[in-house]
Amino acid sequence: MSIAIVVHGGAWDIPPALHADHELGCRAAAQAGWQVLSHGGTALDAVEAAVRVMEDDPVFDAGRGSHLNADGAVELDAGIMDGQTLMAGAVAAVKRVANPISLARRVLHDSPHVFLVGAGAERFAIEAGLPLCDPHALVIEREQMLWEARRNATGKEQLAFGKAGTVGAVALDAAGNLAVGNSTGGTFFKHPGRVGDTPIIGCGLYADNTLGAAACTGWGEQIMKTVLAKATVDQIALLGNAATAANVAIAYFRHRIGGLGGVICISPEGQIGLAHSTPYMAYAYRTVTDDDILSGLQVKDG
Ligand code: ASP
Repeated sequence: MSIAIVVHGGAWDIPPALHADHELGCRAAAQAGWQVLSHGGTALDAVEAAVRVMEDDPVFDAGRGSHLNADGAVELDAGIMDGQTLMAGAVAAVKRVANPISLARRVLHDSPHVFLVGAGAERFAIEAGLPLCDPHALVIEREQMLWEARRNATGKEQLAFGKAGTVGAVALDAAGNLAVGNSTGGTFFKHPGRVGDTPIIGCGLYADNTLGAAACTGWGEQIMKTVLAKATVDQIALLGNAATAANVAIAYFRHRIGGLGGVICISPEGQIGLAHSTPYMAYAYRTVTDDDILSGLQVKDG
């Protein structure tokens, strides 16, 4: 049976000086997921492990190191989905959770609900035995300085998608089960309470063993309107090819709404797909036919 893992570290105009750190972070995450899968672990465990690595890496806009909102606070969103059962868990606008992907996993298993937000999600974390952290522990100097500069800027900035670095992972395990997970600090200087596509089932992520699994990154307002993760897995089922499905989904996203973003996906057979409309997308992956992790920022055509 085939196993596979693919991760993304955000799709945006990543400055060349940051390329190496993004690639290294993605490689470490894919390696953590591969370790789980190659030792017989589940796809859910693999995506959680991979996403946690990137949440802990301040390079990315997830967990510690996330962008600050307009109030100068970190507000995190994450989601996870099991392609075997269609069980899903998601959290949004949490401020005191260092690894929101693990809280989303607890929502999936331990709650009758799919999506918990804000103070209620943090209360659930305590009930589920997950420690809450000091919100200041998630703020790093780089982001504090960006926030100060934006706050002091004169004039009103137009709503635009710029710096990002959301993370996500898709995996197929030896039992043939697909899973997907996503985590983000959202867009820079977002309105407090704003939630993007990242934790929303069908928009930022989707997994169904019978169709495929996909994780999206990019301008959340556009991804939500095009339900991009479900659109991608429907294309996998229709076309029978993950690479083509990713390209078709991103072409639709770009032409229909001027979409800025990217998608990673896996077919039920373990083929990988990657596509983006932004200048770069950080990614890493491994399948049974690869001797090592493959990684980069610019996806080659075909
Ligand atoms: N999709 C994320 C959001 O809009 C941002 C990103 O993927 O970079 O919150």
